[in-house]
Amino acid sequence: MSKRIVILGAGESGVGAALLAQKQGFDVFVSDKSAIKDGFKKELDDNNIEYEQEQHTHENIFNANEVVKSPGIPDTVPMILELKEKGIPVVSEIEFASKYTDAKFACITGSNGKTTTTLLTHHTLTNAGLNVGLAGNIGQSLARQIAVDEPKDWYILELSSFQLDGMYDFKADIAVLMNITPDHLDRYDYKMDNYIDSKFRIIQNQTADDYFIYCADDENISKELKKRDIKAQQLPFSNKLEISEGAFFQDNKIVFNLKEDAMSVFIEQLAIQGQHNRYNTMAAGIVAHLFQIRKPKIRECLLSFKGVEHRLERVLKVRGMDFINDSKATNVNSSWYALESMESEVIWIAGGIDKGNDYAEIKELARQKVKALICLGTDNKKLVESFEGIVPTIVETSSMAEAVKSAYFLGDKGDSILLSPACASFDLFDNYEQRGRLFKECVRNL
Ligand code: ADP
Repeated sequence: MSKRIVILGAGESGVGAALLAQKQGFDVFVSDKSAIKDGFKKELDDNNIEYEQEQHTHENIFNANEVVKSPGIPDTVPMILELKEKGIPVVSEIEFASKYTDAKFACITGSNGKTTTTLLTHHTLTNAGLNVGLAGNIGQSLARQIAVDEPKDWYILELSSFQLDGMYDFKADIAVLMNITPDHLDRYDYKMDNYIDSKFRIIQNQTADDYFIYCADDENISKELKKRDIKAQQLPFSNKLEISEGAFFQDNKIVFNLKEDAMSVFIEQLAIQGQHNRYNTMAAGIVAHLFQIRKPKIRECLLSFKGVEHRLERVLKVRGMDFINDSKATNVNSSWYALESMESEVIWIAGGIDKGNDYAEIKELARQKVKALICLGTDNKKLVESFEGIVPTIVETSSMAEAVKSAYFLGDKGDSILLSPACASFDLFDNYEQRGRLFKECVRNL
C-alpha cells in the first residue's frame, strides 16, 4: 500500500504539496477547515486529488503516514497535538518538498528584511546567469515548482519562523539570519527564547561545508551565538564593526571582505536606501560572492535592484510632499527602520492590529522626526497613549481615505507622508497588500 500523505490547509503551499505528493505516487488527501479558494479547488479537481473543506474529518486524517501542515496552523491546536502524540510526523511544506530535489538551498530568515533580501539575492544570481528558483514565503511554493518546473541547481528560499518550526532533516547549504526582534510572540508562548530557537533552526544540520551569514549587530543573535556550537563557516555583516570575513559599512561604502578579495559599493548609488537596506544589501552581496560571480556583475546587480512593492515604496510627490508606502511594516522594529531612513519631517500613519507592541524603542525617533501621528485602526488607544506628549499632533482616523486626507492637510512642502503601520492590517483591510494599494489609490486621488 502506498504511503498516505495528508495535507492540512489548501493554500499555495498545501496545493503545491498535494501536486508533488501525487507525482511521487503517494495516496494524497487535502483537508482545509475553511472554504478552499476556487482556483485551488479547480486544481485539486483537475488532478483528481481528494479533499474536504470547512472541516477536518478525524478518520480521513489520522490514517496518515505523514502530515504536511500549512504554516498558518499553530502547533498548539488540539488536532496537531494529537497527531504528534500518536507519533504521526507533522512537517512543513518545505521539509516535505526538499526531499524530492537534488537542488541546493540558500535560505533567508529574520524578523524583518526577508523578502527584500531574498528578492535581491535572486535578482543577482539570475542576472549572473545561474539556474536558481525562488520560493518559500514568496510566489509559487517550493513543492509546486519541484513537481512542475524544470529542475533548478539552487533555490533561494524565504523562510518564516512558522515554516522553520516544521523542519527537521532539512539543511540549508547557505543560511542567512537577518535579525531577531520581537514578532509573532503570540505563537511562541510570549517567550522570546522560543522565537529565537525557532529562527536558529535555519542552521540545523549544517556542516563545516556550509555557510552561515548573519547580522553581527543584532543582540539576540550575538547572545545566542555564544551559547551554540556553530558548525558552518560564519560570514557576519555589520554596520558598526570592521569584519575580517564578511561585509561591513565604512566611509559611506559597503565593503565585502571575502577570501581576501575585497570589493565595495557606495551606498548612495544603491537604488534601495536606508540603514535596513544596507543590511539587506550586505547579506545578498555575501551570498553572491559565494557563487563566485564576477565583482562588476555583483555591483551592477546590487545597484540596479529597485526594491519591492509596499516596502518604503515611493508613491508620488503631491504639493512637494513625498508619499511613501511601507505597508509591509507590520511590527515596531520595521517601522523604526522606516522612520530612521526619513530625511525630512514626517507625518506618520500607523496602527491596526497590535501584536503585543512595545513602542518604547521607537519613541525617541518619533520625538525627533514625527510632527503628526495619524492613527489608522479600529482601536487606537495604545498608540495614542504611547505617543501623547511625544508627537505634537495626534489624529484618529478609521479609513485610509480619511488618513491620507488628514496627512495631506497637516503636511507642508518638503515633508514625508509615511504609511508604516507597525501593526497587522486585518482590522480594516484584507492584508497588508490591500492596505498598501488603497494608500496608493487614495494618494493618487488627492
Ligand atoms: P519581511 O519579509 O521579513 O517581512 P521585508 O523585506 O518585506 O521583510 O520588509 C518589511 C519591512 O521591514 C519593510 O517595510 C521595511 O520597513 C523593514 N525592513 C526591511 N529590511 C529590514 C531590515 N534588514 N531590518 C529591519 N527592518 C527592515
